Amino acid sequence: MAQILDGKAYADKMLDEVKAAVEARAAQGLRAPALAVVLVGADPASQVYVKGKIAACARTGVTSIERRPASDITQDELNWLIDELNENPFVDGILVQLPLPKHLDAKAALHRIHPTKDVDGFHPLNQGRLFEGLPGLRPCTPSACMRMLKAHGVEMKGKRAVVLGRSEIVGKPMALMLLEEHATVTIAHSRTLDLPSVCGEADILVAAIGKPGLVEGSWIKPGAVVVDVGINRVTELALGERIFAAEPEKLAKLKEKGAVLCGDVRYGEALQVAGAVTPVPGGVGPLTIAGLLRNTLDACEQRGN
Ligand code: NAD
Repeated sequence: MAQILDGKAYADKMLDEVKAAVEARAAQGLRAPALAVVLVGADPASQVYVKGKIAACARTGVTSIERRPASDITQDELNWLIDELNENPFVDGILVQLPLPKHLDAKAALHRIHPTKDVDGFHPLNQGRLFEGLPGLRPCTPSACMRMLKAHGVEMKGKRAVVLGRSEIVGKPMALMLLEEHATVTIAHSRTLDLPSVCGEADILVAAIGKPGLVEGSWIKPGAVVVDVGINRVTELALGERIFAAEPEKLAKLKEKGAVLCGDVRYGEALQVAGAVTPVPGGVGPLTIAGLLRNTLDACEQRGN
């Protein structure tokens, strides 16, 4: 039976460390770090994510600032709003919650954020620093995953790592971070041929594709460390019956509630073959928010405030 990598417990530890650092700053007469969250419109899922981020700020003593422009805001108006936050010396981190309404250019908005306040780590300058192996603000999900793997003593040097997914938010930065730790890294994606055999080579398998239960237990190398980044909402019973064969409680929940959350990996099957695996929910999800708070603290300290 695989070890369960409890992301929630590790995220709690990261948040406690941020809280202690904020308290230590206060003891020296320094202000709390401040995170500005920009939520355009009223997308229900985005509202839930933003609520979680604001709650994590409250828990750690980080000041949160909310900007909630209406969904018909123009690109110019959004740019001005970001400029105002860029210029505000009391704001350390700026996060524009994605997705944005279709008429807005998300990349332009993300690139508008000053690199020193780019706590999501999506600005090309910070991506370039990661590419060069230099310190900087790094994307929250992969950087928090790496912290947790290191804390659990997962050996990466010389290991075969396979990252499923090549997004700029998770897949690509995760691959670079594994490379930095001297793993031999393969990035697989929607055009990769024979995914099961590519996965079968992985000592460390990271799934970040957004396809419920795509990765079967039989694809996993015995003893591998499996990090499941995917968050999927399954509502279809036929799909649930296929992917939850080894998780009867999840199937029962799906039948009872009509929807259930799961990762990209068939967790019940992975538990039987992997050496360690992150659950969904309670794995990578909480780590992402903890990574954001850590980045906000780091941004504040690096700006010398
Ligand atoms: P994305 O849609 O930007 O990228 C998905 C990637 O998966 C693409 O590179 C694509 O090539 C690849 N892919 C799609 N279908 C595939 C297939 N059948 N086989 C192999 N590769 C395939 O997604 P993203 O933003 O990187 O997010 C991926 C998943 O991670 C989503 O479920 C998302 O909700 C989740 N996510 C979770 C967190 C968290 O906090 N846990 C954070 C970010 C993203």
